[in-house]
Formats: sequence, C-alpha cells, structure tokens
Amino acid sequence: EDRQRLDKVLSNFGFGSRKEIKSAVKAGLVKIDGITAKDSGAYVNPAENAIEMNGERLYYRKYIYLMMNKPRGVISATADNKQKTVFDILPEEYKCFDLFPAGRLDIDTEGLVLMTNDGQLAHEILSPKKHVTKQYYAHISGEVDSSDIEAFKNGVVLGDGYKTLPAQLEILKSGELSEIRLSIVEGKFHQVKRMFEAVNKKVVYLKRLSMGKLKLDETLGLGECKELEEEEVALLK
Ligand code: URA
Repeated sequence: EDRQRLDKVLSNFGFGSRKEIKSAVKAGLVKIDGITAKDSGAYVNPAENAIEMNGERLYYRKYIYLMMNKPRGVISATADNKQKTVFDILPEEYKCFDLFPAGRLDIDTEGLVLMTNDGQLAHEILSPKKHVTKQYYAHISGEVDSSDIEAFKNGVVLGDGYKTLPAQLEILKSGELSEIRLSIVEGKFHQVKRMFEAVNKKVVYLKRLSMGKLKLDETLGLGECKELEEEEVALLK
C-alpha cells in the first residue's frame, strides 16, 4: 500500500510537526490534486497525487541520497549515547527520513560519507564482492617512498594476518610529514591506518575523497551535506 497519511508525507518534506501541519491544513494551505485539503489525516499516494503546500508543488522521492563532508569528532553511526553522530548533524529537514550512512569512517576521519535510505544501493556499494574503490587523502608521519608504493601494490599483511588486495598509492609529498593519496577496493576496519602500520608509518590525518565514481564536492564545508543530483546517484549504480 503506497498510501500514507498526509501529515506524515508533509513532515517528510520538512514542513514541521504533525501539529504544525494540521494548522497549515486548517489554514487552507495544502492542496491535493488541486483541491484544498480538509484533513491532515487523509490518506494520499505521494507518488501519484499532486500535493501542493502554499502554492508550491511537492515532488515526492522515495529515496534520498546525501553526501556529507564528515568532520572529526563525529561517528558514522545513527545513534550513540556519548558521541555526536552523522545523524545528529543532518539538517533538520532530513531527520525524518530513515537515512543511514552507507559505509563508515572513523571518528577522526574526515570526508565523504554517503547517507541514504536506499538499502539496495547501500548494500551494493558495501558488498565486499563489488570491490568499490575508495580513495583517501592522508598525512603520514614518516617518509613515504617507492617501496611503500610497491608494498601496497603487492598487498601488505595487517596485524591480524589479513593480506590486503592490491592498492594504489600516490605520493604527493615525501618528507618527515608525507602527503599521499591511496585507493583501496575493500573496507576492512581501520584499513588505511593499519596498512600504514604494516609498513611502520602512522596516519595522522585521513580524509575520504571518493567512493566509486562519486567524488566529495570540495565546496562542502566540514559537517555540511548536499543532496546528490540524479547523475551523481547514477554514478553509484
Ligand atoms: N581507513 C581507516 O583507517 N579509517 C577510516 O576511517 C577509513 C579507512
């Protein structure tokens, strides 16, 4: 059944609480298929009925896709007792959708997190079998050199004995504090940090730049997010 209560639909569009929507309906601000709605508890099919709020047509979308530039100090889970989560820092208008992060970043990692309520797409992106490429930018304490490029290409053995798949390391700056880009096709726990540990180096700053063909929009400030354009969603499929 695709029918939902009008107040639920409008609240999903960010028009406030049930009570606020009830007054908007009372005030005659809401139309369904051109007719002024009388009851905020009426059932509508948001994909088929034309719903207007204050003269503006609302275009329903089943799925929401947001890219967030995750800041440090925020965890990529939807609920936590102590720590702030990516869900806590979502703009209010998105909090009513059941968004969840498709893929995790450590609390001290910045950058691209995809938030969606499209379970199927999330599953595809996260499936270990799909080998979706994730690209990271990092600062490394210690000199990164061509032996590390070679080691990552061949795979390194992590602390737990797991040998990583071939990864592509690019050195942007080598010195006491090196700057690199690394592309990996898997997503083991703390993978980038543990790969550098395997070559006796330490990640001191980490940022995710991309997932598959989807790149972090560099105009997004830390903690900001934006809805993906259709073409950007298509890049993930
Ligand atoms: N690798 C890490 O070590 N941490 C992240 O947050 C992501 C990849």
